[in-house]
Amino acid sequence: MKLILEGKAKKIFQTKKKEVLVQYFKDSATAFNNKKKRNFKNKGVINNLISSDIFTYLTKNNIKTHFIKRISSREQLIRKLKIIPIEVVIRNFSAGSLVNRLGIKRGKKLKEPLVEFYFKCDALNDPIINDDHIMLLNIANKKDIAKIKAIGLKVNKLLLKYFNNINIVLVDYKMEFGFLKKNIVLGDEISPDSCRLWDKKTKISFDKDIFRENKGNLLKSYLEVLKRLKIEVENV
Ligand code: UDP
Repeated sequence: MKLILEGKAKKIFQTKKKEVLVQYFKDSATAFNNKKKRNFKNKGVINNLISSDIFTYLTKNNIKTHFIKRISSREQLIRKLKIIPIEVVIRNFSAGSLVNRLGIKRGKKLKEPLVEFYFKCDALNDPIINDDHIMLLNIANKKDIAKIKAIGLKVNKLLLKYFNNINIVLVDYKMEFGFLKKNIVLGDEISPDSCRLWDKKTKISFDKDIFRENKGNLLKSYLEVLKRLKIEVENV
């Protein structure tokens, strides 16, 4: 298969069918715009399992996604999208850059889920942008932005429920969308790499903050999420 894209944590291959790709999960973890890097053995396998489970759940709940199926421990078949170069972050509790930017206390429940957009551009450090910037940059029109927000908030409701079932608080998370013909479709991955997940009782992190802030054992925490989701694992 031909490698067509290599990112920080994933590789994308072209299959024989033009409209179908393979998404391969690597073990590398990066933070602070690539300034901090490390490999965690089998992180890719764990994230593939978790993200596949989440995308299957979202599909069952009528969310249109790029996910077709998991085909191996590190690979998924996905539909080829025309990626929209924004990161859509939804927050339910205050943490991370929101706390730093606004000087508010960490761990507070927000009155309403907060939707934020970041322009995907490494050279600019993924700056936060608003609807008007998105239109100025010709990334998407008003209608599409409204659709992205609506789908994002629907996904948020579903994911809050999904994680609440395993006693985990979904603090915030990042999504990426793309066009499949004229439809806006959820792409990329949703995993402990792209979410903040806190234990309901202890508020301990089960996500990439463990790596960002050097607190605890990242693999052990990601495996705990798998265990609570009752996902069968072989050789991890
Ligand atoms: N996030 C991500 N990729 C990014 C930036 C953020 O997956 O390039 C996720 C991050 O894991 C968190 C949420 O989006 O769950 C909000 O991140 P935040 O803006 O607080 O940035 P951070 O301080 O984590 O860089």
